[in-house]
Amino acid sequence: MRQDYEMVIGLEVHAQLTTNSKLFSGSSAEFGAEPNTQTCPVDLGMPGVLPVLNTRAVDMGIKFGLAIDANINRVNRFDRKNYFYPDLPKGYQISQMDYPIVEGGYVDIELEDGSEKRINVTRMHLEEDAGKSIHDLGEDRHSHVDLNRAGVPLMEIVSEPELRTAEEAGEYLKKLRSILRFLEVCDGNMEQGSMRCDANVSVRKKGEDKLNTRVEIKNLNSIRNVMRAIEHEAERQIAIYEYGGEIDQETRLWDATKNETRTMRSKEDAHDYRYFPCPDLLPVRIPEDRIEELKKEMPELPDQKKERFMKEYGLSKYDASVLSMQRASANFYESLVNGNRDAKICANWMMGDFFAALNKAGKDISESPISPEQLGELMDLISEGTISGKIAKTVFEEMFETSRSAKAIVEEKGLVQINDTGAIEAIIEDLMQQSPENVQAFREGKTKVMGWFVGQTMKATQGKANPAMVNQILQQKLQG
Ligand code: ADP
Ligand code: MG
Repeated sequence: MRQDYEMVIGLEVHAQLTTNSKLFSGSSAEFGAEPNTQTCPVDLGMPGVLPVLNTRAVDMGIKFGLAIDANINRVNRFDRKNYFYPDLPKGYQISQMDYPIVEGGYVDIELEDGSEKRINVTRMHLEEDAGKSIHDLGEDRHSHVDLNRAGVPLMEIVSEPELRTAEEAGEYLKKLRSILRFLEVCDGNMEQGSMRCDANVSVRKKGEDKLNTRVEIKNLNSIRNVMRAIEHEAERQIAIYEYGGEIDQETRLWDATKNETRTMRSKEDAHDYRYFPCPDLLPVRIPEDRIEELKKEMPELPDQKKERFMKEYGLSKYDASVLSMQRASANFYESLVNGNRDAKICANWMMGDFFAALNKAGKDISESPISPEQLGELMDLISEGTISGKIAKTVFEEMFETSRSAKAIVEEKGLVQINDTGAIEAIIEDLMQQSPENVQAFREGKTKVMGWFVGQTMKATQGKANPAMVNQILQQKLQG
């Protein structure tokens, strides 16, 4: 991107809550059921029905507000957002307009260059999801509607336009997802649509502080796509400004295969929706003691975990933040250290060989073929001197493939490290006898041949000789 421009980005995130039932009815909110099997007259908008608010969803909203240090509005209210669409049988969506449950708060992000940034959250409101129109079944030429999703509870989390790069947007989403998962209020799965993001993007010349016209991009089903779409959209807008054009305020769709955004519709304004307070629902009043109870239920959050990892285990900020971002990896790490193993070496093994192997296998840590106890056993074999660090890497590969224990693999393959001084000395003496010219060279100051001796000794022992001992004995003997 051109250096004289900067991006201005604000994200709207829809997070589907993990309640059992819907926001205003008792229908199941579970994902993946046969179409239209999880609906009731309330979801279908039948005449005469009345919505009843799911208090679990309200609790989840409060917890999120507490997690981002926001104001919880003790009185908040539901409004009707009116529009017509086949997947919205009532003709309106119940949302919160003027009095959302949560206002303010922030999410702190860490950037690759080590810097940190605070992103302020404007608001979070609760609303119901719409159903789903399906146009591409192929067999007949009809469109279909699945109303299982109609009425499923969502949180809409709106950020201030404070993000300045695609990287910042990506880190904000990662941190937000991590908070939602730690709170167990949303599974954060963007591919399945339980966390969705719309990106608002504008560009301006650096140094300006007015906000230019923004474009909203929809259809972003992964963090990577959010980042790519933002970059492409910013380039498109810069090109238009450079040709003296204007940006239309509109909603665009991201096409991940063509790598471009394209017009979906011109942006509607709030007044197009004719918002008004939903007459079927009383304002929500949150008692003070409910908030106090929920405070007690709050889990340790990613940032708190990161701080604790730095203090308790002496990890660097970077290592601590990588290991604490996902609860599964934080738990794995703590079981691996198990109160006694070297915390830094554990972090290195997890973030090195272990994460690389998971990555290569396309597995999440929750699907890891080896447990922290198994990896711990391998690390103990290294620290006791039973195997060398190098051998450990091959043992690890086999463990990862077969889920077998480190000890079993080491025993079966006879990989136990040779720590017997006499045995190593014998091999080295043999070598020196076979190649007196190299001994001579060393003694004449060509210390490079040391490498050759180390290599030969390791070869003679199939890599099993204790490397520290080999070095020490060689130094001694070669120097005569
Ligand atoms: P709407 O419902 O019209 O999309 P919201 O208030 O829900 O409006 O969301 C607006 C989003 O757009 C917020 O995330 C905000 O930070 C962002 N935003 C507002 N103005 C700009 C701008 N000029 N450039 C980029 N983002 C903006
Ligand atoms: Mg919006």
